[in-house]
Amino acid sequence: MKEKLDELYTLIAETNDLARAEAVLGWDQQAYMPAGGAAARAQQLATLSRLAHEKFTTERVGQLIDELTKATRDLPYDDDTVSTLRVLKRDYVKAVRLPSAFVAELAVASGLATTAWAQARAANDWQAFEPHLARMLELKQRQTEYMGYTARRYDALLDDYEPDMTTAQVTAIFDAVRHELVPLTQALSARADRVDDAAIYRAYDVERQWTLAHKALRAIGYDFARGRMDHVPHPFCTTFSNHDVRVTNRALPDFFNSCLFGALHEGGHALYEQGSPDRFERTALAGGTSLSVHESQSRLWENLVGRSRAFWQYFFPEFKKTFRKNAADLDAEKMYRAVNKVQPSLIRVEADEVTYSLHVMLRFEAENLLLENKLKVSELPAWWDEAMSSYLGITPPDVAQGALQDVHWSMGLYGYFPTYSLGTILSAQLFDHARAQLGDLDEQFARGEFTPLREWLTANIYQHGRKYTLNEIALRVTGEPLQTRSYISYLKKKYSELYGL
Ligand code: ZN
Repeated sequence: MKEKLDELYTLIAETNDLARAEAVLGWDQQAYMPAGGAAARAQQLATLSRLAHEKFTTERVGQLIDELTKATRDLPYDDDTVSTLRVLKRDYVKAVRLPSAFVAELAVASGLATTAWAQARAANDWQAFEPHLARMLELKQRQTEYMGYTARRYDALLDDYEPDMTTAQVTAIFDAVRHELVPLTQALSARADRVDDAAIYRAYDVERQWTLAHKALRAIGYDFARGRMDHVPHPFCTTFSNHDVRVTNRALPDFFNSCLFGALHEGGHALYEQGSPDRFERTALAGGTSLSVHESQSRLWENLVGRSRAFWQYFFPEFKKTFRKNAADLDAEKMYRAVNKVQPSLIRVEADEVTYSLHVMLRFEAENLLLENKLKVSELPAWWDEAMSSYLGITPPDVAQGALQDVHWSMGLYGYFPTYSLGTILSAQLFDHARAQLGDLDEQFARGEFTPLREWLTANIYQHGRKYTLNEIALRVTGEPLQTRSYISYLKKKYSELYGL
């Protein structure tokens, strides 16, 4: 058995190296590559991706996983080897079910669709995008047939991003949340004048914003000896090893939130990756377990920490030192209020904490209707406008700010949107438990102490890498599966107080 384990682990380590090298090229492509490098880079990325896929999908890998799984069946569920084999089996089944001709077809179609989408959005022309969306849907429907599903087509796609989660579970969670958020949004909209956010739209020097973002990252414990922050148009976090986790960010001259909260968001992803243990490196257990659990960490540091009153009590003096002239009339309370303004808006990525999930729910419903042929592609814009009006009370003036706003569907990312909200909901559930176990977190934050929270997250989540699924983590850490109670009461309490409801 020792020999077979070594053989499998070596194969996986090398597959891992290829994937990490791909990540380095992808990071460089976004952060530093001159435009002229695009064609060659696309080829390099395709080669690395093909080699990694070929190396992982051999019959030998499948055989080793099955033999070793049998040989270790008496070991406990959470044993490192048993967990590695369980996670590998899941990855392997997914990787071999799609014929390579289909994967290539999908890559070509999504390349074309992404280009068409960018042009259609710029021209505000839904009809130009329609045939591409129809083609992508047809391919994704075929993908669900290859992958297999029992209850809903969507289950097969959701599973790629959130293993172990079903469409039925997401529907129940979203229904419960929507039931509370729609009236809350209406109540807050009616009192929009209670919160003044003019302070975040002043002109703030971008270099200084960058310095401030570094300070915030250091404060929450992001390790710059094992990471760095670079400029990109669309921020993300990427991992080359647990000792090299990079965040990317952008600073806008007249919108303060982008840079600071971008840093805290990507920093949250990065803490998770930096917290993955050394012994998991180059194995199937390295890194974060799923998109939702990852998002629970970015949202936790961005919102539950960064948008808290206690954080601003600690951080405001830094802010004031950085922007002396522009901050003369501000104080911690004014900034706390300004960064927490709620306002129904058209664009998902610009939405506040309260309305964000409503944007996600709308997409989740649309994806299900489209995949099950209950809604035609040509009917989507009108359906979208109606849903926006009933959830948020506003209607897009044009399709570019409506159904054409996201790149996801042209890229083939169906079943991806729900993870943004599931993560946000999970973050509140985890935070409740951290608070119960760590005492007064607000007092700690106000003193700039974030280490106890980070260590708690490391012990409960980061140190397990990919060992457990979202539902398993929720159950292990909080004693119950994902629930909406914590999230709803967090929002109600915070925003009732802010808006005097
Ligand atoms: Zn994120």
